[in-house]
This record gives sequence, structure tokens and C-alpha cells, in this order.
Amino acid sequence: MKKTIFTAMTAMLLVGCCGNKKQALSTPEIEKFNYTVDQFADMQILRYRVPGIEQLSLQQQEMLYYLTEAALQGRDILYDQNGKYNLTIRQLLEAVYTDVQQDTASADFKALETYLKRVWVSNGIHHHYAGDKFVPEFSQSFFEKSVKQLPAEQLPLRDGETVDDLLAELIPVIFDPAIDAKRTNQEAGVDLVTTSAGNYYDGVTQTEAEDFYAKMKDPNDAEPISYGLNSRLVKKDGIVQEEVYKVGGRYSAALEKVVFWLEKAAAVAENDQQRAVIEKLIEFNKTGNLRTFDEYAILWVTDTASTIDFVNGFTETYGDPLGMKASWESIANFKNTEATKRTTIISDNAQWFEDNSPVAKEFKKEKVKGVTAKVITAAILAGDCYPTTPIGINLPNANWIRAAHGSKSVTIENITEAYDQSAHGNGFAEEFAWSPVEIALMDTYKNQTDNLHTDLHECLGHGSGKLLPGVDPDALKSYGATIEEARADLFGLYFMADPKMVELGLLPNDSAYKAQYYSYFMNGLMTQLMRIEPGKNIEESHMRNRQLIANWVYQKSQADGDKAVEMCERGGKIFVVINDYKLVQKHLGELLAEIQRIKSTGDYAAAQAIVEDYAVKVDQKLHTEVLERYAKLNIAPYKGFVNPVYKASFDKTGKFTGLSIDYTEGYAEQHLRYSKEYSPLTK
Ligand code: ZN
Repeated sequence: MKKTIFTAMTAMLLVGCCGNKKQALSTPEIEKFNYTVDQFADMQILRYRVPGIEQLSLQQQEMLYYLTEAALQGRDILYDQNGKYNLTIRQLLEAVYTDVQQDTASADFKALETYLKRVWVSNGIHHHYAGDKFVPEFSQSFFEKSVKQLPAEQLPLRDGETVDDLLAELIPVIFDPAIDAKRTNQEAGVDLVTTSAGNYYDGVTQTEAEDFYAKMKDPNDAEPISYGLNSRLVKKDGIVQEEVYKVGGRYSAALEKVVFWLEKAAAVAENDQQRAVIEKLIEFNKTGNLRTFDEYAILWVTDTASTIDFVNGFTETYGDPLGMKASWESIANFKNTEATKRTTIISDNAQWFEDNSPVAKEFKKEKVKGVTAKVITAAILAGDCYPTTPIGINLPNANWIRAAHGSKSVTIENITEAYDQSAHGNGFAEEFAWSPVEIALMDTYKNQTDNLHTDLHECLGHGSGKLLPGVDPDALKSYGATIEEARADLFGLYFMADPKMVELGLLPNDSAYKAQYYSYFMNGLMTQLMRIEPGKNIEESHMRNRQLIANWVYQKSQADGDKAVEMCERGGKIFVVINDYKLVQKHLGELLAEIQRIKSTGDYAAAQAIVEDYAVKVDQKLHTEVLERYAKLNIAPYKGFVNPVYKASFDKTGKFTGLSIDYTEGYAEQHLRYSKEYSPLTK
């Protein structure tokens, strides 16, 4: 596992929650908070609370404020990384949306509004999750006419460019689905670089890019540099070269502002180590030196004492078809001390879990290294974490740093709370759960057990077990990711039903885990199919993992004739029924033992067989039924967020006196404001 960033995919699991609730976490603030903001296309926009911010010291609040500003200043970078026309298109659409006099009730205008909202969601013109280009539903003539009504100074024109030039360049990019069809092409057998619309390369082929970096790499370096991470690779005057993202280099105007706010944050850091972390990041932004980046990552991962923390910079490489170049992202956050007690208990007992797992002894670790894990409260989401966001992060990504210095694993609980709360009463559980018993179980315990399962998956699951000597870590090849996610999920699921959970105070009683089992099986056997297009099979590794686990246990239960899990029909609809939760745990343990054996021995043939047999194929009849039942509920399959608005106060001498937080900003309002206040890369 190179990196574990929870995607919207994982977050989707949380969406399938339940009707009117009474649960442990419920407080008057949560009851009153309005989590929903907007809905359009396949998106619902939510807002999140930032509880506990008022308990931070004045100095911590000041630092947090500077980090939120440093986060927002990077917004334009991601648009440009996602495609070279994105910033121009955004600017043009926003100008038409706000400044052209027209009939706002017309179908064209409404379609423009939806398209612009989708561009904001995706930080560009490709779907934020699928990566396919989406095309507008307004007419080309409407667009041309509207653009021509704008005064020249509002047009993003380059020197000497006319409005006709601009339209001629952009119209195919916006309207023709065949041009720049995919942001990040992963299809085998084609040049991935030239067929991807992302802006990480310009004028170079895949072979040229691979050759360029192959020459740089030293295969004997025990501390290999993440070459290519912070640059665009271009061919200029016939020479392949990097445009490095740094102050004075590419994205300088944005990075200068990021550095400005980071410097302010460093001046009010909580402690020396944290100050050193920020100063190292500033140095990296100024020099672009990737050795400095590694030094920064080591300082960052070993700072576990600070309350305030952040990610700010070029981090994840999913957007690059070659997996080297990182997109810009930021999350400023602070520790949720109360909830972190839970992850501390898990980490402290890591050895007990390893010793008591159902896998064969030769595949267990004799000595488990505790994983640093904490629960955090996000204060701002930006770049590739906005407006769609992970619910957990595990960094840094460099394997040698993880091995030598460990990694930080976080769960973002104010985000999972928003997902969970916004799903209450949306009719999902009522439609898909077998009976009021399961609905009540999920109502009461699902939020809690989801968080716990995430913790177990992250803190213990991925870190458990060992490879036998000589086994290649990449032996399972394209099946590796599914097997690895299944291993981590199974570890969490198996132990969730163990009496140890109640004994450690992680669950309130011995039936709470059933909420997790039921929702996991309902999702893995049925409801996750709502995200698959008709006729398609399952490709994504997290989804494969969930079907693998649920389907294997179901088939095993059929084969054994024990009826632990059944699929039952009632009133023409299919439901998942769990008759014996303890037996389900037993089967989960059997599967965990087998999955760990496959991993430990690098048994490619077995990995291929188990994934292809259980995880990939979709029952067409059931799929159609799920899609029909889901469509009737009118639930948006993807969620995004608006950020709160922070206002810092200073006295006459410039001393910070406090931070106020406002949750009322709307979705379009927020993006239009960001484009005014945080747009260093546009004219
Ligand atoms: Zn994972």
C-alpha cells in the first residue's frame, strides 16, 4: 500500500445511513445544524461543523487562521494541473454567470449554472471522480452570444487575442466530447501521456517522459527521491525539461502567497518542532528541491505533539497517468482530543490484535510497530480536498520514509459526521434494509461503528501481517490493491465482533457491531451497485474489495448450508438478511486467513481466482433492480462541501484578538468569492 487516501468512494459507504435517529453522538448543536446546502447533477453540497475551535488558545486560533489562508491561496494551481484550459473556462463562465444581462429563468441559463457548479466541483471540466469530460447542456450559440456581451476587460484574453480567437480555441474543448475526453487515461496499450487531458505534460510522449525520469533515478538509492513530483514536463526547443513548481518557477504567483501565510503561521507555531516543519515547507516552496521535501515529510510525520496540523502542497499522484506528479491540496486541522483516545487505545493494543488474529502464525508479525493515529477536525478544505474530500488521510507517501519514520493516519470526524447526519431521513435504509430491526441498529450504532472500522482498517489492518522472506511486494500485480484493501477491511470487521471491543470501551455493548456487519453486507452485496453503470462490471479496487468480502462470506454460508447470510425476496424486492452474526464473524476470519496467506506468499494465481470469482462480476438482474430502487429515492451519489468563513480580528497594534466562524455562505457565493479573493493565477 503506497498511500491510503480515502476517496469519495469510502465516504459513500457512510451515505447509506438511516432514518430519524437517536444516537450516542447526538447533541443539540448537531440537531440544529443545517448540513445541506445545494443539489445539482450528481452532487449534493453539504457543510460541516468545526466543533472545538473555540477551545483552542488564542495563539492556536491565530495559527490556524494563517493556515486556512495558505490553503485557499493554492486553489488556482489545481485547476491548471487538471487541464490547461480550466482557469480560462472558469473565468469566462463566472463572468457570463454574474455579468451578462439575460433571462435567468431560461433553460440555457439554468444549464450554464449547473455546468459552472460542476466545474467548481471538479476543479475543471472533467468529472471529479470518474475523470471523464462532462459536456454542457446549454447551446453553443447561447454561449457565444453571452461571451460577446462581456466587456473586453473581463475576458481572459492573451496579448493580441480577440474574442473570436478565444471562442475558436475553447468551444471544441467545452462542447466536443471527443476532445480531451479523459483527464487521466489508464487504458492499457496507448500513450497515457498524450491521451490524458491533465496538464502535467506538454509536448512529450509517454516514452520521452519515462526515459527522462529513468535517467534520473538511482536504483541503488535507499532513500529514493520522488522525481517529477513537483513539476510539469515539457518539450521546449526540442529539449525535454521540467518546469518546477516553486517561487520564481511555475505557479510562482500562487506559491508566493502560500509562503506569505506560512511565514505568518511559523511565527506563532505551538512549538519548535512545528516551526521547523513549516520553515522546511517554506524552503521547499522556494527551492523546489525534492530532498528538502523529504526532510519536510520526516519532520512532519514525527510531529505528533502539536494540536494544530496541516497538509499543504503537492501530495497525491492519482491525477498523473504515470503516477509521479502530485496535485496541490491542503487541509488545515486540529486534533480531536476526545476521539483520539479511541485510536490511542487501538494503537496501544496493536500487539494483542496481531497475536489474536485468525491468520496462520507464520504470516503474523512478531513485533507490531504502533501506528500514529489521531482523529482530527478539519477547519478548511482546499485544492484536491475541496469541495469533495477524503474522510481519512495516511501520509507521507514515500515508502522509505514510511518504513524508517512511520506514517500519520488521520480520520476526519467532523466530515464523517456531516455525511452521516445529512443522510438521516433520506429513505435509503427504509428502502434497502430488511426490517425495522436492522434500521434501528444502524440508526443507533452505524456512525460510531463506521468510525471505528475506519480506525481499525487504518491503524492496524494495513500494518498487520508480514510477507514471507523473498516474496516480492508487487507479486499480486493488478490484484494487489483489492487484496490489500480486503485484508485491512477484514481485519477491522473480524475484530469488531470480538468481546475485546467492549472490554476496551471502544463499543458500548456486544450488539453494536451488528450495525457495521449489516450495512457492510447490504452495501457489498447490493447497494454499491448503484454506482456502476448498467452492463458494466466492477473495476475500482475498494468496490471490488467490498463485493469480494460480502460475496465470499455469502457463498461460503450457502455452501456450508448454515444460512448465516441470505438474499431474500419480499414483495418483488431482494434484501440481504443476516441470521447469525457470530457465524458471519467466523467466515470473515476464514477469509482473512486466506487473504493473508495470498498476500504473505505472493500467490498471484489465488489472488486472480478469488478476485475474478467473487469481486468483479455483477448480477445483471439485481443491478437493474438496485438502480431502479435507488433512482426513486432521488439521492445524489456524490457529496461535496462548502467551507466555513473565518474572520480574524486584530487590535490597533496588529495583535490577533480572536477568530469568528460563520457557516452561512452558499455554494455559488463561496466559489465566486474565492475567485475574487484567492485567484493569483488568473488575470
Ligand atoms: Zn485502505
